[in-house]
Amino acid sequence: MAIEKLLIANRGEIALRIHRACHEMGIRTVAVHSTADADAMHVRLADEAICIGPPAARDSYLNIAAIISAAEISGADAIHPGYGFLSENAKFAEIVEAHGIAFVGPKPEHIRTMGDKIEAKRTAGALGLPLVPGSDGAISDLAEAKAIAEKAGYPVIIKAASGGGGRGMKVCTSPDDLETLMQQAGSEAKAAFGDATVYLEKYLGNPRHIEIQVFGDGQGNAIHLGERDCSLQRRHQKVLEEAPSPVLSHAERERIGGVCARAMADMGYRGAGTIEFLWENGEFYFIEMNTRLQVEHPVTEMITGVDLVREQIRVAEGRPLSVTQDELVFSGHAIECRINAEDPKTFAPSPGTVTRYHVPGGMHVRVDSGLYQGYRVPPYYDSMIGKLIVYGRTREGAIMRLKRALDEYVIEGMKTTIPLHQALLNDPEFLNGDYTIKWLEEWLAREG
Ligand code: ADP
Repeated sequence: MAIEKLLIANRGEIALRIHRACHEMGIRTVAVHSTADADAMHVRLADEAICIGPPAARDSYLNIAAIISAAEISGADAIHPGYGFLSENAKFAEIVEAHGIAFVGPKPEHIRTMGDKIEAKRTAGALGLPLVPGSDGAISDLAEAKAIAEKAGYPVIIKAASGGGGRGMKVCTSPDDLETLMQQAGSEAKAAFGDATVYLEKYLGNPRHIEIQVFGDGQGNAIHLGERDCSLQRRHQKVLEEAPSPVLSHAERERIGGVCARAMADMGYRGAGTIEFLWENGEFYFIEMNTRLQVEHPVTEMITGVDLVREQIRVAEGRPLSVTQDELVFSGHAIECRINAEDPKTFAPSPGTVTRYHVPGGMHVRVDSGLYQGYRVPPYYDSMIGKLIVYGRTREGAIMRLKRALDEYVIEGMKTTIPLHQALLNDPEFLNGDYTIKWLEEWLAREG
């Protein structure tokens, strides 16, 4: 089925990203937006725009009935959910498909399986992915938990089955604390996610976060597009991502990528996905799978030349993948900086009106952002206002280019995290690629 008109069920830079891919494919776009986003760039550029509700996301970007109505009224034959909002909501995907509209994303049952971390871990294990040692499923019994923790070795981490955004996790260093922390994790998970189910796994002391981009055609064929190193995090939020990882060899990439691609082929996975691992002492440990496009997907696009959104749309049309594993070539190095409207030292949100705006350009520089001069950043949503992505033949080259591009980037009218990135890019440990998921917070404590 050829998609002719696609509804973008998202906002901000990713809505613009999807609009661009559509127009390059000759597909017309429908923007849906809250009242707070009426003058957003993607709303201006889309062929049609429909207001779906007030600023609060639950009344607009999470309002399934309003979004489906907008698709029906505009005659859209596909919906792309972007990331966040409804992108990993299996029920939404089912409702979209029940209306005869193509869902640009995985099969609903795969979204559901991977959305429950215990189910996800069990499935990943059955598909041959390496797991973090720990409980086989939910734990509630203290004696059982103690035995599992003993076997895995302390410290252990108690995690919520329905968790997300780094919430509902407790690190436990001794059997004496296990009961209290299990109860705390359970009640926090209940409050945050409406589900008190928790599980337990070994707490890795100082790992890197390395994730594998996968793609399936839904018919049993799948490929991997290498890894992204997302170890630079603050409060479990990614700040800067790069591909390839400074620590993986080509052979290691082929091995773990091959395991992931085979797993996705066996599953019959459809569309884009990311398999997230912690990596320590040369070993990979599966933590979760995201059944959507990721914020940091452009670094993969830069080193493979594959347009992942175009690929998602092709697969949603029932077409085969445009590249085979053998045709895929990894070349050079790409880095992305997430630019947030925040104070670069305190991280306090800093929404406001863009009074002056100048984007960097030049060879191998990409800016994904809906910002323009006069645009007012609404205070209701995520603080990320743009992404700066650069490519270089080598990591050193990419870093030099990124510094140059950050120096050119002018955003006035609000505080941004550009100075944070500039400082990071001068740090000798970062330059050596010598960092783990703990590194940035320690660096901030030191440099702040
Ligand atoms: P969420 O869905 O909430 O993001 P994840 O399972 O992806 O949860 O974990 C988020 C982060 O928590 C990881 O990137 C890592 O920093 C930390 N983490 C999770 N599991 C472990 C573990 N077993 N050992 C050490 N750190 C962990």
